[in-house]
Amino acid sequence: MKNYTSFLFISRKRNTMHRISLSARLLKVLSIIGASILSITIALSVYNARVLFAEYDIRTNAHDNAILLEKLDSLRTALHCFHSDFDEYIAQDNRQRTFWGIECIHPDIWLMGIGGPDIKKPQSNLSRQANAMLNDIYASIDILKNKSYLRKLSLRELNDKIENKIYLWAHVPSVHPVPGRPLGSGFGYRVDPITKKIKMHWGVDIGAPRGANIHVTADGVVSSASWHGGYGLTVEINHGFGYKTRYGHCQRILVKKGDVVKRGQVIATVGNTGRSIAPHLHYEVHVSGVKVNPRPYIDVSDVVFN
Ligand SMILES: [Zn+2]
Repeated sequence: MKNYTSFLFISRKRNTMHRISLSARLLKVLSIIGASILSITIALSVYNARVLFAEYDIRTNAHDNAILLEKLDSLRTALHCFHSDFDEYIAQDNRQRTFWGIECIHPDIWLMGIGGPDIKKPQSNLSRQANAMLNDIYASIDILKNKSYLRKLSLRELNDKIENKIYLWAHVPSVHPVPGRPLGSGFGYRVDPITKKIKMHWGVDIGAPRGANIHVTADGVVSSASWHGGYGLTVEINHGFGYKTRYGHCQRILVKKGDVVKRGQVIATVGNTGRSIAPHLHYEVHVSGVKVNPRPYIDVSDVVFN
């Protein structure tokens, strides 16, 4: 006797009942078909889901790539702006070097790159467009590095030059030794006030009250601070670079031989010592051993620099 399995289908709405009887073999075949359909459906659903995710990834990557290319382009533009700014610094560098008598850096040298292991190395996994942008950016950065390095060296050279100039200027007599007092009897032949004979006057006389401060006119070292014949109490300063100054007829000397003095420092007071008929300062400037007219070396604005 065959084994059957019966299924009852009852419809309450129509108040009917249907009965379907299936043999065990048919039921097994139907079960296999149903399981196969279910498996195929699940596999297709998984495949579709993976395709959907892949499409989403592709769309996202394409969007990211577009944004990255846009950012690279912005970066390239920003670097070009830096180059434009640097052109201003190069022009300034040229002006400064010309002013200080230093040869300008050749324009081609400014545009040289320094280079390095990663410069202009193509990335095989990037598009040609992205590679071109990256190469341009690398080249720009390379040239900027060179410009920055050259500017740093140039500034150092300019600074050394300026410091040397400032050092030299500090040692050149250039201010009034008794600020505010008018210049009297000058450099040249004149009637000597004591002998009444025509005689060369090797300095400039500056009338001032006894005790008025005498300022040294440049940085230097006291080479002599003592009585000096007709000059009376005298201070002599060696400023280097061939410059020396002499301050005669002092009342008091406030420095001693070997002292280092700074421009504007008070070194003595006005007096009437030696061959002098009234309190005044006899001021001399010597250049390379030759006594010269001090007037061009006196700042008429009476400013005393510290
Ligand atoms: Zn004099």
